[in-house]
Amino acid sequence: MSGLVDNIRASLLGLRMPRALEMLDHTIQRLEKGELGAIEAIDGLLAQEFDCREDRRVGMALTTSRLTPPKTLESFDFTFQPSLDRDRIMALAQLDFIERSEVVHFLGPPGTGKSHLATALGVAAVKAGKSVYRCSLADLIEALSKAEREGRLIEKIRFYTRVSLLIVDEIGYLPITTGGANLFFQLVNARYEKGAMILTSNRGFAEWGEVFGDPVVATALLDRLLHHAVVVQIEGASYRLRAHADLIPEHVRANAPISPPPPPKRRGRPPKKELEIQNAG
Ligand code: ADP
Ligand code: MG
Repeated sequence: MSGLVDNIRASLLGLRMPRALEMLDHTIQRLEKGELGAIEAIDGLLAQEFDCREDRRVGMALTTSRLTPPKTLESFDFTFQPSLDRDRIMALAQLDFIERSEVVHFLGPPGTGKSHLATALGVAAVKAGKSVYRCSLADLIEALSKAEREGRLIEKIRFYTRVSLLIVDEIGYLPITTGGANLFFQLVNARYEKGAMILTSNRGFAEWGEVFGDPVVATALLDRLLHHAVVVQIEGASYRLRAHADLIPEHVRANAPISPPPPPKRRGRPPKKELEIQNAG
């Protein structure tokens, strides 16, 4: 009997199954006491090992995808953001938009949870085995510019095009040079109808000419980014500022109301503008 247990131990070691190895003695004790059946014991050991590997895979993938710190939809307080349709976000978490190579836009003022929701969808995609990469627009353009200077632009665009889901965060915070806008356009064009994206921005589409410093490039970008698109507009208070409402200067408060606004009158129905964009796809 102990010879067989030694064999199992050696096999688990050789197969690199550390969690099952760790659980082996305890499992055998429970088997001997009759607390477990043989099938249950096998199931328990394999399931523990599987979960352990899955946790490690997801942990590593979250780091390489730059989805750290990770966020989840479970930790998102939808009651704080009444303009947001929870069912719509939960439907996005089914990840069909990735299969359909769609673009999801999260628009809204700072602190309304755009990056949180984008990251949470990225985390869900990683858990489902999809390849994801997240970066800010500024970092993306910097990486593309560097690659261009070093004669590796095509390679770099290929890198960003390979992932199933590309998350580009913080469009609109920093001004983009014409050269930068052109590089972003090349990437968007390369991914167009081939891979899904999530974009977050504090600026409306009408302001993209200003954001990208060039109305022609902005129009070409929007042409691709609004075809097959889902637009989620968040109109609410900053979650970051919620505890400090009394300390915020009036001009900041005016741009980012501290208390959540009352729920919209037409609940559950997106504004007309949004419907048109979705139907355009
Ligand atoms: P944005 O990208 O819109 O500026 P973030 O998503 O970065 O805002 O949110 C700011 C911080 O507040 C983050 O730490 C985020 O996790 C948290 N947060 C924002 N909205 C919510 C919410 N409704 N429920 C829970 N946490 C939230
Ligand atoms: Mg953000």
